[in-house]
Amino acid sequence: MKRSRVVLPFMGRWLALLLGIVATLWSVAARAETRLQVDSLCHAVTDRQQPDEILASLRFACDGTPAGYQQGSLWLRVNLDRLPVGPRDVVLMVHQSRFDRLAVAFSYSDGTVAWRQVRGGDFHGHWRPGGQIEFEAPGRAARLTAVTMRYDGLAAHGLLNMRLLSPDESGMQSAGLAVAIGAALTLLLISGLYNLSLAHALRRQYLAWQGGWAMCMLAWGAVWSQIHLLVLPGMAGTLSAQTATFLSCLAIALATISAVTALGRDTLPAWLRLGTLGLGISIGIIGVPASLMRGVGLQQLGTILGVATLADLLAVAICLGVAWRRGCAEARDFALAWSLPMITLALIHLVDVENAFWGGGSKVPVLFAAAWQTIWLSVATTRSLASLRLERDRARMAAAQAGELARRDPLTGLRNRRGFVETAGPMLDHAGTTRTPIALLLIDIDRFKAINDVYGHEAGDMVLTAIARRIERWEGAMCTAARLGGEEFALLIAGLEGFALARFAESVRQEIAACDHRDAIGDRCVTASIGVAATSTPSDFRQLYRLADEALYEAKRSGRDRVASRRFPDDQLSLPDVAGPTQSPPRQSKGC
Ligand code: GH3
Ligand code: MG
Ligand code: MG
Repeated sequence: MKRSRVVLPFMGRWLALLLGIVATLWSVAARAETRLQVDSLCHAVTDRQQPDEILASLRFACDGTPAGYQQGSLWLRVNLDRLPVGPRDVVLMVHQSRFDRLAVAFSYSDGTVAWRQVRGGDFHGHWRPGGQIEFEAPGRAARLTAVTMRYDGLAAHGLLNMRLLSPDESGMQSAGLAVAIGAALTLLLISGLYNLSLAHALRRQYLAWQGGWAMCMLAWGAVWSQIHLLVLPGMAGTLSAQTATFLSCLAIALATISAVTALGRDTLPAWLRLGTLGLGISIGIIGVPASLMRGVGLQQLGTILGVATLADLLAVAICLGVAWRRGCAEARDFALAWSLPMITLALIHLVDVENAFWGGGSKVPVLFAAAWQTIWLSVATTRSLASLRLERDRARMAAAQAGELARRDPLTGLRNRRGFVETAGPMLDHAGTTRTPIALLLIDIDRFKAINDVYGHEAGDMVLTAIARRIERWEGAMCTAARLGGEEFALLIAGLEGFALARFAESVRQEIAACDHRDAIGDRCVTASIGVAATSTPSDFRQLYRLADEALYEAKRSGRDRVASRRFPDDQLSLPDVAGPTQSPPRQSKGC
């Protein structure tokens, strides 16, 4: 129920976007038709060796379908009186296809004919972005009556796409197309590189496939739009068309592998996973003969590839749906990323948009849909990465807090025995290596049991807390404090020796005795006995503790409320010079 409440508005927005795309495609497709339908043109087929001048005596058939031209020349003629174009300013735009040579004859009313031509590997200045070749009719006083195209070695007339435009319109379209293609290719480049770098950093296989797919689409876009002719003019014509065919098949294979590997092995039934992968990879393999093939079979293979592509898209959609239902997190992101390219591919099969998008036709929405897909996936991956990082940081913080709590005494907030020993270790090591004197003060409250017995445990706790607050004030870079348990506290202090240490221990005793406990036990005096162990040689905590404990026992035995000191045997450190344990005289504390 909750799930459907989240999904439905989301689906609504998605549906609105989908309708928007359909409406846009329909409206651009419905714009003025300037395209030349090959089947409606007059045609003739001749031997390749025939000179162009044969045009004057050539007999054109204006019905039926041209055939048998693959080894020879296909002539296509359009009489301008049958088209809504101006009689003088005419530009012929031919989408790149597979042919060896294309010669265009502009025939004028005074009987003159102006020839223009391009060859595979040499489009001169005729190539335009968007995979088009442009032929502008030379401006003459006489009226233009017909345009004739002669294709030598054409692979398939069904793949031809030719349009007649005015020069202004042609210029506008070329500029618009250049901007659109530049934008789509830039987006693909950025998101492709991003995916590849993420794949490298995260060692995630599907991101590598995704990045490879984006790069393949980028290469396809560059080759299809002829941008590559800027640096590789020799690729003009058939070689580019073949490369574009191969890259488009490879792109479908990579996209399929990327989607299926992202979903993981456990989320899909093996037959569905392997079947989809097999279909995608087969399309990639079919791309090899499809790119090399010339002749009648090409058009049929193109149709087979179209059907296989739609089947592949359907199979991927089913995979995503199954994985989404099974709770795979990546499936939703992939489904949303894939839906737009899938819808676009399906729609361009249903709606004829070859005349739209500044003459770029169906390839322009395909490029943008591909860019959308990689960007969406990049964003989705970045978002899930960011939330993973946040979770990790929170877990680390919680672990650090738990660790800190485990090292603190809950009543007083001072370090407990564990925390104290962990801090004391490095302090002792440092003191040992730098030969700094170091001392441990064990502080035990005198007759504390009696306080509990008389005033209650809660009052005892308040006394312990007040003493902890006082002891805490000695903490610093050279001194660490702890409550080792019960009514026993400790201070480990570095850098003090001899008289200074004795004075420090004495001041600790006095300050504890001076603590104000009126809110807990009235005017009753609370004193502490202190055992001090000091050393200037490398030593471990246990040794130091044992000596300090001996000194504390001595202080208790001598009457409490006093300081007793012990030093290591053979230690050069000077302590108050007494035989055996040193004792300070019992004093009346300030607060009592
Ligand atoms: P001495 O001068 O020999 O040290 O006598 P003492 O009574 O201080 O020592 P003893 O070891 O006999 O008693 C320690 C008492 O400290 C016993 C125990 O009830 C009390 N105590 C230990 N932990 C706590 C605590 O967290 N809160 C309170 N209120 N009392 C505690
Ligand atoms: Mg004790
Ligand atoms: Mg005690």
